[in-house]
Amino acid sequence: MASKFQISPIQTWLPAAEAPVVIAGPCSAEGEEQVMLSAHLIAKHAAGRVHLLRAGIWKPRTRPNTFEGVGEIGLPWLKNAGNEVGMPVTVEVANPEHVEAALRHGIDVLWIGARTTVSPFAVQEIAEALRGVDVPVLVKNPINPDLELWIGALERLHGAGIRKLGVIHRGFSSYEKSVYRNPPMWEIPIELRRRFPEIPILVDPSHMGGKRHLIATLAQQGLDMGFDGLMIETHPHPDKAWSDAAQQITPQRLAEILQGLIVRKPTLPENSSLQALHDLRARVDRIDDYIIELLAERMGISEQIGKVKKEHQLAIHQKERWAQIVARALQKGKTGGLTEEFILKLFQQIHNESIRHQTKVVAGEEVATNGQIFFP
Ligand code: PEP
Ligand code: MN
Repeated sequence: MASKFQISPIQTWLPAAEAPVVIAGPCSAEGEEQVMLSAHLIAKHAAGRVHLLRAGIWKPRTRPNTFEGVGEIGLPWLKNAGNEVGMPVTVEVANPEHVEAALRHGIDVLWIGARTTVSPFAVQEIAEALRGVDVPVLVKNPINPDLELWIGALERLHGAGIRKLGVIHRGFSSYEKSVYRNPPMWEIPIELRRRFPEIPILVDPSHMGGKRHLIATLAQQGLDMGFDGLMIETHPHPDKAWSDAAQQITPQRLAEILQGLIVRKPTLPENSSLQALHDLRARVDRIDDYIIELLAERMGISEQIGKVKKEHQLAIHQKERWAQIVARALQKGKTGGLTEEFILKLFQQIHNESIRHQTKVVAGEEVATNGQIFFP
């Protein structure tokens, strides 16, 4: 499909000797020393693997009375830190005043945050402020899963003449409680790639996961989808961070994660059945991760159910409900070509684990399950 976007390839404005392109740095600039230390530690531990230094200067927060960023004073901290370690720098801009200040301080790349991408007026104002300026802009997805809104923001910037354009996929807000802070909904950036293959897509596992133990898996998933890079929040003392503490990692951990990433070739070399095997295994690993994450989510729901049962003094195990679950699973399994024996064994294990979680909530104790007792 012919594209409407004329984009300068990311390699021309964010050179990375080796893929993926990586942006790292603290969620927020908290002080001159913290920004400088972040830069030095990133350069020390992940030299050559990080290509752009980030720090939030203006922080659009969900609720008032939280830390909303140090403001313009932080721009020279970031720029100087970048100069010290020889790295370009990026900040989030949410209005024309931010754009003007960032450009005045020589910020190399701008990004538009999820809470701004949702607002066409705000994006248009930013685009107008950028008219005639040759600065790269990365557009985070809107907080809600609306691809058209995301594309609309790109069109507004492109319409103002921005050609060094890319996106950052940071997951989408959902009311449903999930293991993720912002569930990835990979199908949305995949559709963006299908429609506009020339737009570079970076992945932000930090805001997606919301918890640091999820970052490595999400980063690998992003690369497995064939996306171009990562933005990972990195702080010298993550637990003491003034914003997003739970999801930030140390520069040492960042280096480990980057080192462990498997970068797969976008296309199979001819006659390489081994490469095909690798790719298939990567898909299997990704699916296994999903299965475990979904099971963890399911057990979280079981605990909520446990609370309700406790409140209403209902029995933990309810025969009719269990029979209903098994019947549904058997039917679904049959459609997918899975045997009855497999589905029964699988659900027996899931049910036992669920009972264990519920019992913990209802009786406040751990129970041992032997894989048989709760099976009808
Ligand atoms: C951020 O990157 O610090 C940020 C605020 O992200 P998002 O816009 O994705 O919430
Ligand atoms: Mn953040």
